[in-house]
Amino acid sequence: MKAHDGMYIDGAWRPAAGGDVIDVVNPADEQVIGQVPAGTALDVDNAVRAARAALAGWAATPPAERAARLAALRDGLVARAEEIAETVTAELGAPLKLSQTVHVGAPIAVAGSYADLAATYAFEERVGNSTVYHEPVGVVAAITPWNYPLHQIVAKVAPALAAGCTVVLKPAEDTPLTAQLFAEAVHEAGVPAGVFNLVTGLGPVAGQALAEHPDVDLVSFTGSTAVGRQIAAIAGAGIKKVALELGGKSANVILPSADLARAVNVGVANVMSNSGQTCSAWTRMLVHRDQYEEAVELARTAAAKYGDRIGPLVNAGQRERVRGYIHKGVAEGARLVAGGPEAPRERGYYVSPTVFADVRPDMTIAQEEIFGPVLSILRYEDEEDALRIANGTVYGLAGAVWAGDEAEAVAFARRMETGQVDINGGRFNPLAPFGGYKQSGVGRELGHHGLAEYLQTKSLQF
Ligand code: NAD
Repeated sequence: MKAHDGMYIDGAWRPAAGGDVIDVVNPADEQVIGQVPAGTALDVDNAVRAARAALAGWAATPPAERAARLAALRDGLVARAEEIAETVTAELGAPLKLSQTVHVGAPIAVAGSYADLAATYAFEERVGNSTVYHEPVGVVAAITPWNYPLHQIVAKVAPALAAGCTVVLKPAEDTPLTAQLFAEAVHEAGVPAGVFNLVTGLGPVAGQALAEHPDVDLVSFTGSTAVGRQIAAIAGAGIKKVALELGGKSANVILPSADLARAVNVGVANVMSNSGQTCSAWTRMLVHRDQYEEAVELARTAAAKYGDRIGPLVNAGQRERVRGYIHKGVAEGARLVAGGPEAPRERGYYVSPTVFADVRPDMTIAQEEIFGPVLSILRYEDEEDALRIANGTVYGLAGAVWAGDEAEAVAFARRMETGQVDINGGRFNPLAPFGGYKQSGVGRELGHHGLAEYLQTKSLQF
């Protein structure tokens, strides 16, 4: 795969300060497919300086012009769609069709939505005798994970640019090639030098230096709760704004009146897609005790269909982590009905689609984010019991409710402690705010709520 051996800083690819590199590995065959520079604090400092220097000009650029650059960026992503999809497949391991439709399709839609929003957003309003200006927060540090490499980047960079902020991006070390393609598209879209900068590198080195940098105004982070907690502490100490999108353990609640087969099939597909590496995945399926065994059989059949169709996990560490959770589920007494901890192939970081039944709410596999193709099916007695179980984790990112009557599902969803709920299989909406209740995060991404994260207000009184 093509890889730049420099950093995209101040409008050009520049040599990295140090000589260390990161190998990029194809998780399907364990082959090294490229190398990118491992950035240091010096690279981060250069990038933040460039972003600071470009801030005043970009913030003063009329929103219509920022919208035009974002529209050009969207068009650039469309033009490169195939190359990006192949790159996501190579470095993440996602099947090519998934890369094309989801990993590239969704961020193109999101980039387009911010081109529209930049042009139409009310950056100025009257409140009584005041004019309130919604101004850019400043220099943004964007730290992104590998699970949806392009989407996570676009969901931060596009609203930041729409708001008039400048950005330094530190993408995940497993998927830096997609980030380099994104930087090329930004460059070709005519975004001025310094407005967007890319520093590849290790989290505890480049990521930490970026979060700690005194000239960063806002840190937007997506990833693990452990690192999110550190970032929040660093941001707190520096009085920086912070947005965190962390993990989830979302509940798929199937009420007795639901179309059981559809709810189970869509639920299994939701968990297995992207090999379970989705923060909003419905990893806990809640079924009424009278329908429980039927649901387990349906899930077993559905999981078997995924056998050869899911990709590997992103790296050996993630595979071991997921296998560890499967062992733990067995040890704690859950019933394995599909899959298991054994490696299904000789090469590649694969884990079989796995389904556990007889999962109790207090088991580790019902509480912790596994980030692999592992579904836990829990039994509930009545609706109140289902609600207690659904709300009984530290997380609150997403979820689903299925019922014969939409109003019944909505009434249940309103009582769930979570940021998004899909009703009877509702479709992804790139304009709907996405983000967590409880320990799933702070702040929202997407749509105008996502844009507002990158704005601060100034009131003038008359
Ligand atoms: P991670 O939190 O370690 O990495 C996410 C990003 O943070 C990467 O860019 C990484 O380089 C960076 N980072 C790591 N340490 C840092 C530090 N000290 N300071 C600043 N930046 C740092 O996540 P991971 O190791 O890739 O995945 C581990 C687990 O995180 C997964 O198993 C999953 O549970 C969770 N995760 C969640 C999401 C999500 O979308 N919510 C995405 C990926 C991973």
